[in-house]
Amino acid sequence: MYKINDNYLKLPGSYLFSTIGKKVAAYTAEHPEKSIIRLGIGDVTQPLAPAIIEAMHKAVDEMGCAETFHGYAPDLGYEFLRNAIAGGDYQARGADIKADEIFVSDGAKCDSGNIQEIFSTDNRIAVCDPVYPVYVDTNVMAGRTGTYDAETEMWSDVIYMPCLAENGFAPKLPKETPDLIYLCFPNNPTGSAITKEQLQMWVDYANRVGAVIIYDAAYEAYISEENVPHTIYECEGARTCAIELKSFSKNAGFTGVRLGYTVIPKDLKCGGVSLHALWARRHGTKYNGAPYIIQRAGEAVYSEEGKAQLKEQIAYYMKNAKTIRDGLKDAGYTVSGGVNAPYIWLKTPDKMTSWEFFDYLLEKAGVVGTPGSGFGPSGEGYFRLTAFGSYENTLAALERIKKM
Ligand SMILES: *Cc1c(COP(=O)(O)O)cnc(C)c1O
Repeated sequence: MYKINDNYLKLPGSYLFSTIGKKVAAYTAEHPEKSIIRLGIGDVTQPLAPAIIEAMHKAVDEMGCAETFHGYAPDLGYEFLRNAIAGGDYQARGADIKADEIFVSDGAKCDSGNIQEIFSTDNRIAVCDPVYPVYVDTNVMAGRTGTYDAETEMWSDVIYMPCLAENGFAPKLPKETPDLIYLCFPNNPTGSAITKEQLQMWVDYANRVGAVIIYDAAYEAYISEENVPHTIYECEGARTCAIELKSFSKNAGFTGVRLGYTVIPKDLKCGGVSLHALWARRHGTKYNGAPYIIQRAGEAVYSEEGKAQLKEQIAYYMKNAKTIRDGLKDAGYTVSGGVNAPYIWLKTPDKMTSWEFFDYLLEKAGVVGTPGSGFGPSGEGYFRLTAFGSYENTLAALERIKKM
């Protein structure tokens, strides 16, 4: 008789976005005359940049010609893309990462979920709270998290690192020693960033206690401040303790196209065993490689034309972020984020819970956002707004919020 992986049964249902959907549907049914503005969108909305479309068209034509046809992609990605990434994202920033330390994939969600497979189930994980849910959920599936307490919404074997206003939404070093540390900066959902000195502290800590940092840099392109690192490899010693995840989703609009990569430096070793070799083995066995057409699209992100066009897209979203930030501040709200990330994190007024504020905002302004409590217990009393809407809608939403 077969058995299922019953770790899956431990996963609590994900009610966040379905509950939001139901509440919005109920409101619309009751107030058919009122328009809803969505400032909770977690997906990009701008179309792919012309330089990227051009590269894809060209690659499509190559696929239709015997001389330039491409079959299976190389396991770890095409050289042209790995070279573009190593040059554009690392060497240009003085970070010592080479093309053969980059593993091209179909996105950071898969990589951030799969990377735990190369580690023992005995490892203790540490995560920021609130956090992107993939890190914890995939460790639950692997049986690494112990038991769930519905009351506290916490797992017994996970080390939670609260990110609150008191610590500038940056985690403090944990009291218990973790083996795997998930960090994401600039952060989803809080929109916070950490300085190079703060990240260096984590790198030093990981090297000292023998932990690995899994660093999610999905929002790197939104960084506007000088002292915020674009990659963990700007920190000294990161080559022996850090894996970095990157995505083309938020910087180049690839959420529907799918492309990302993981960096594992060859110096990252556990008792002499290379993590690079383990991940290469896994990638070669379980992964077919991103399509040629998509990897050519990714290469175009690093062209002069592509870079200029994407800079404009990011500027568009960040103008929205500034509009939300400044508008909320004028209206008397306590806000953070929105400077190095497309997310604005606001403290709910009058000690409202996250969901109470959701209802209040929907009822009074017809504006939809995301309750902070949906990202973890320390998100309670906070609310996430995103900069991915249109500028016109963002302005209109702020006008409504100011009139509440
Ligand atoms: C959006 C996002 C990603 C990107 O995932 P893809 O699978 O590449 O689209 C990764 N990490 C975080 C924290 C995100 O918010």
